[in-house]
Amino acid sequence: MGCITGHEWSQRLTMAETGSQDDPLHVLVIEDEDMIRRVVVGYLEQAGYRVTEAAEGHAGVDLARSESPDVLVLDVGLPGIDGIEVCRQVRTFTDAYIIMLTARSDEVDKLIGLSVGADDYLTKPFSPRELVARIKVMLRRPRAQPVAGDVQARVFGELRVDPESREVTLAGAPIDVTRTEFDILDVLSANPRRVHSRARLVDEVWGQGWVGDERVVDVHVAHIRAKLGEDVAEPRYVLTVRGVGFKMGPG
Ligand code: CA
Repeated sequence: MGCITGHEWSQRLTMAETGSQDDPLHVLVIEDEDMIRRVVVGYLEQAGYRVTEAAEGHAGVDLARSESPDVLVLDVGLPGIDGIEVCRQVRTFTDAYIIMLTARSDEVDKLIGLSVGADDYLTKPFSPRELVARIKVMLRRPRAQPVAGDVQARVFGELRVDPESREVTLAGAPIDVTRTEFDILDVLSANPRRVHSRARLVDEVWGQGWVGDERVVDVHVAHIRAKLGEDVAEPRYVLTVRGVGFKMGPG
């Protein structure tokens, strides 16, 4: 797992990514381990964000509601209600970016089966610098410019992906996808005949500064498939090309 240097990191730190001095972007950190929470809060404050913290799930949901943060850093393993349930509840009233912290990489496998609506995942132990870099990458999305090429809606059987309005419909019914899910569909559907490797999808969706476990792509693809009501054994729209990556179907 790579890590950007402190020098690169400070070069990347700009007002545009943290908000203005008077109105900094707000990050809510929900983590029960005091040590980790303190370090994460310290790094985020140093990076120019306003930070609120909670050590427990219910308190985290309440703060997300009252404080309207721009970003949530959310631990999966929490006392009270766990991070997965916090994510579900928070998603009913906010479109904030959510980055989930998982204790072991097998928790990523667990998350693949759940459609919780997080935008990114980070496995412990992680570097706090990496977390800050991930948050910045998230805040840069959706991209200022659409994917080069046509911006017509793209149609695959009953699935319609509209890069202009960032809407997805299936047989005319709107599908509620997260930003990350939309970005993955956007990249895949822009070049439907191409097989996209996980590394390529990471580059295009998260940006080249992203470091971490490429299996996050599988988590989001699983969520997309669940929302499209796909048969996991025989998906119609986002196809797995074994040993290579993903492509759009039918094709
Ligand atoms: Ca924990």
